Amino acid sequence: MQYQEIYKQGVSVLEGAGIEEAALDARLLLEEVCGTDRTVLYAHGEREISGGEEEQYLEKIKVRANRVPLQHILGKTEFMGLTFTVNGHVLCPRQDTEILVEEVLKHLHDGMRILDIGTGSGCILLSLLHYSNDCHGIGADISEEALEAAKTNAVRLGAAHADFVKSDLFEKTEGKFEIIVSNPPYIKSAEIDGLMPEVKDHDPHAALDGGEDGLFFYRKITEKAGEHLPGGGMLFYEIGWDQGEAVKNILEENSFREIQIVKDFSGLDRVVFGTWYGETR
Ligand code: GLN
Repeated sequence: MQYQEIYKQGVSVLEGAGIEEAALDARLLLEEVCGTDRTVLYAHGEREISGGEEEQYLEKIKVRANRVPLQHILGKTEFMGLTFTVNGHVLCPRQDTEILVEEVLKHLHDGMRILDIGTGSGCILLSLLHYSNDCHGIGADISEEALEAAKTNAVRLGAAHADFVKSDLFEKTEGKFEIIVSNPPYIKSAEIDGLMPEVKDHDPHAALDGGEDGLFFYRKITEKAGEHLPGGGMLFYEIGWDQGEAVKNILEENSFREIQIVKDFSGLDRVVFGTWYGETR
């Protein structure tokens, strides 16, 4: 069968299954199976593919039609221009989170120490280290399996200054950090059931569930963050679109100042950060 024909078949199966980015996913899966890039579809669509490739492709299309995330089928995803290994033990890195990384990068200087709470795949910490000089970072996570994925990514990216520790928030983190960053679970418990199947059935529940009001981890982390920051140290969070004011208030109540809310490309609140000047109340 021709490359472009099997591609069209893939698109139509995924469209039928209600997959939003059917064309993109069908193309990326075909490229994965055939070891090709996007130019093949547009310039050499009449190329014949082997029976084996066809079978493998249709199998992957079937899995995707069952709402398994594309990233899980590929076993990897792109984040900040870097490739990360992902699996069912870590939250799939989101484009939204690049806003958080970009914001931290504006404030990150050579040699700083960074703590990433709930590091998951390690995508935040490893991107920060990749795009800076001589910084050192700790990624903390309560999940052993997530830490395995993060370590795989650290090796893959050649991150020399990243360490990972199994820790319930700050439980096992030692020393102070100029930058603390986190993309904690922030979905309200009752809303998880209404999320798309790729998320609610395949991202780890523990990486999503922010408790009854979605703010549980912002409170827990912010209350303790000051103990791990020097004066002038900064705390950065990714937040849900409707959590800007609430998280800003939590930072204010805990002696953070110069608090800012940053919007994403859709104009929605996405990041909150503030600076620690010590106990001033
Ligand atoms: N830090 C990881 C990320 O942003 C995991 C976050 C999480 O599991 N809530 O992708």
